[in-house]
Amino acid sequence: MAIERTLSIIKPDATRRNLTGKINAKFEDAGLRIVAQKRIHLTKAQAGKFYEVHAARGPGIEHDDGLVLVDTGLGNKGSDKFRAVYGVENTGRQGPTQLEDALAEAGFTPDDVQWVINTHLHFDHAGGNTFQEPADAGSGRREGRSRSPALSFPNATYVVQQGELEFATHTNERTAASYLEHNIRPVGAAGRWRLVSGETELLPGIRLVPTPGHVPHHQSVVVADGGERACFLADLVPTFLTNCRTHARSLRAAAAAGDLAAAASVGHKLAGSGTRYGFERVSDLGHEIERSAKVGDARAVGDLAQQLEDYLARVRAVSG
Ligand SMILES: [Zn+2]
Repeated sequence: MAIERTLSIIKPDATRRNLTGKINAKFEDAGLRIVAQKRIHLTKAQAGKFYEVHAARGPGIEHDDGLVLVDTGLGNKGSDKFRAVYGVENTGRQGPTQLEDALAEAGFTPDDVQWVINTHLHFDHAGGNTFQEPADAGSGRREGRSRSPALSFPNATYVVQQGELEFATHTNERTAASYLEHNIRPVGAAGRWRLVSGETELLPGIRLVPTPGHVPHHQSVVVADGGERACFLADLVPTFLTNCRTHARSLRAAAAAGDLAAAASVGHKLAGSGTRYGFERVSDLGHEIERSAKVGDARAVGDLAQQLEDYLARVRAVSG
């Protein structure tokens, strides 16, 4: 099958800003282009503030075999409480979520999707596998009556590592919050899973590569087109929030050692990257930390460091 002309990445969003320089350089040395996750703006309803999380939508790939989607984002099935806690706002202008909007912009409908590859089944990656119609939508339905979720992509085969499906459906206290049945079960009930084990060439030019770590059976997607290769890493590598956690640790160490110059420098970094990545809260805290450190207020630096850690803990569940 000739893939040279027909295989292309829609809006590859090949920004590298989510990734650390060192990791990027490594992949570039290996001749791989990194396709970063798209980010969706989310509203944090409780605080009335905006922040972004990595609502892990991957690229769409046009292929001779049909349209291939990598990960489906957060979906629309979160309860009001879920939305409030995680600050989720993923409603689409036309379709159920912003993913359908992005498809429409690229000239596709959900019916066009032939393959959905799930890198793993955490709710911020597989939440858009299925969707819930509003209870009062359609005719002849009683208002308030909830329906079971339907497949977002009715013609698609959904692909995941077999080990990940087992991991996701046999949860424990630590993993249960990340794997939500309504994202997973309807796919099985419709008989739409294609389970793979290990490295697999799913379609000519599209290879699934196990990349364990984040979860035991996480997979990344390598797309080859002519001489070019792109790799969608999903949650394999540290992203912005992971780096923030590292900064938070340095800050704690600096505060404990009374090294306010080091704290000021960490605050400065946080302020800059918070702005760059659209995390206002991180940016605000960074500025305050830098300011307090410069005037020698160690106690304020300690308090702010704690606030940063609390914030990071709150967004952790949706950031992978
Ligand atoms: Zn994850």
